[in-house]
Formats: sequence, C-alpha cells, structure tokens
Amino acid sequence: MMSKLKWSHTNAKFGVGCCGQLRVTGSMFFSGHSLDAMVESSAIFKGVEMNGGCLCGAVRYKSDAEPVYQLYCHCRDCQRVSGSASAPIIFFPSQGLSIEGEVTYYESKGSSGKSIYRGFCAKCGSHLFGRLERLPDLLSIRAGTLDDPAAFQPQLHIHASQAAPWEYIDPSLRSFPHDVPQR
Ligand SMILES: [Zn+2]
Ligand SMILES: [Zn+2]
Repeated sequence: MMSKLKWSHTNAKFGVGCCGQLRVTGSMFFSGHSLDAMVESSAIFKGVEMNGGCLCGAVRYKSDAEPVYQLYCHCRDCQRVSGSASAPIIFFPSQGLSIEGEVTYYESKGSSGKSIYRGFCAKCGSHLFGRLERLPDLLSIRAGTLDDPAAFQPQLHIHASQAAPWEYIDPSLRSFPHDVPQR
C-alpha cells in the first residue's frame, strides 16, 4: 500500500547508530492514508503529478502537490552526499508526497544549526528525499530520481557561495549566496 508521508517527531522511533546514522523504516514515518485519499487530495492541490524512485526500484514516490521551490543547492554537504557539483531539488508540501519502500535518513546540521535529514534507499543507496527541521511542512526530492527529469523546472540557486569553481551556474536563475529565502 502506498501511504501518505507523515513526518512526526513524536511518533518516530529513531535508532541512532554509529556515524550518526539515523535509521527509520517507512512505517514509522509514513502512516495513515490510503491511495484513495491521495487521489482525493489531488483534486485539492490541482498540481502536476510527479513520480519517481531509486535505482533498484525498492523506493517509489508520487507527488500530487504543486512544488514550492525548485532549485539547485550548491552547499558542500549536498556536494559530498551526491558526489556531484550540486543537488537539483524540488520541495513539496509534505502532505502531498506519498512514499513506499524502506528509506534510511541521515541527519546532519545545516548552516542554520538545525537538522537536515537526507533520505536514501536502504538497498541501493540512491538519495531521494530531504527534510529540513527549519521548514517542517516541506519535503524535498532529488530531481534526478524523477521518472521524467524534464519535469524539473529550476528557479533558484542556493548556497551559491559554496559552488565548486568548476561548476557552471546558469546566470538566468536567481542566485542566493546562502540558504533558501524565507517564504
Ligand atoms: Zn533502491
Ligand atoms: Zn545543500
């Protein structure tokens, strides 16, 4: 069953292992709603559906919500975790994103000092999701995991001050030297 993602600090059972790895299984985080409820909610959001998943297929997601931000994050942590120049990211309202499969979350501290949880497939390691303590009503996906990557329509660069010197940055997009601007 595909269930609605429901992040809950109070309900989640975190197991923190070595290296600060935060391991949670889907059922701890995602509860409650049926696929029917998700279809109903799409009538509210009137968004474009975006589907995607990891390399091995064990984790799949589906969003029926309008994206809030579509951006490239150039921070050093996104560079490290992706092994790439930057992370192409789409933020959705968290209630609009449904996830199935086992996702492991790794917690680190962002530039604000608050936690960032990056979610990856427990089997193949593909990085798929991001959750910011600072923006608790949003959840992000990595645009490279979309079934149709052309659905990504980047609008912003953030943490551009940390961009690698060998990266090309599209000058037609708004660029912020540090964090995502407050809504
Ligand atoms: Zn996988
Ligand atoms: Zn980043």
